[in-house]
Amino acid sequence: MKKNLTTVLVCPSDKHSNLDLIEFETNTSNVKSGLLYCIKCIRYYPIINGIPIMVPDNQRNFIHESNFLTQWIDKIPDNIKSNSMPFNINEINSESS
Ligand SMILES: [Zn+2]
Repeated sequence: MKKNLTTVLVCPSDKHSNLDLIEFETNTSNVKSGLLYCIKCIRYYPIINGIPIMVPDNQRNFIHESNFLTQWIDKIPDNIKSNSMPFNINEINSESS
């Protein structure tokens, strides 16, 4: 995903723009792995293999996402881990350890 896409993406839940970009794996202009985070509704959206997964809550795949988040748990800021929708990242982490 091009980093500058964050200027046009909006949260599917509340249409909030200016999503925070947390980069896990990146080169100069592209993010391969990371998170987009909406501070308004505290939802996170994973970027997996360069593709932002921005779908409504009822279409999200908990198992797929929890594997991904567990892999990058050390790079996720604490405020997002403790305050996240639609899944609580701290719970994912405690279940896997
Ligand atoms: Zn939102």
